[in-house]
Amino acid sequence: MIYHTASPHETENVGEMFSNSLEKGMVLAFRGDLGAGKTAFIRGLAKGLGYTGRVTSPTYAIVNEYEGGRLTLLHFDLYRLEQADELYDLGWEDYLARDAVCAVEWSERAQGYLPASTIYITISRGETDEMREIEIKEAAK
Ligand code: ADP
Ligand code: MG
Repeated sequence: MIYHTASPHETENVGEMFSNSLEKGMVLAFRGDLGAGKTAFIRGLAKGLGYTGRVTSPTYAIVNEYEGGRLTLLHFDLYRLEQADELYDLGWEDYLARDAVCAVEWSERAQGYLPASTIYITISRGETDEMREIEIKEAAK
């Protein structure tokens, strides 16, 4: 599926709508450069799940947990990860095994550590400052 948005709010709305199809155990791997709108999309996911708190990139914490909605959302930002094997120290396997949804920014850093069922969400810039293309690629069933 491909969506085009023309504002941060529209990107959040795509995330909010997509949250309806989330089930526990799902992993969403985000791709797209700094400022693409990964966090904006995840803000929409959290809202759609019914989470009412703040959603920001967990740059220092690496992972934020959003609880209280229909499902727990684990929001990762792997920007600062230098090597994929650091994921072991983070408890990556335990996070994946939880009854939660994992949304992973800078998922390129976790290449080889993502389950086969991972859904890839790639956000790229369009012709103007506020245009984005969002591609959601679900794993083959
Ligand atoms: P990322 O997490 O990918 O680094 P953010 O979601 O934190 O990106 O930030 C996206 C930035 O781009 C914000 O400053 C936002 O205002 C801006 N922006 C402009 N147009 C859009 C759009 N269509 N969708 C999402 N963000 C947009
Ligand atoms: Mg971000």
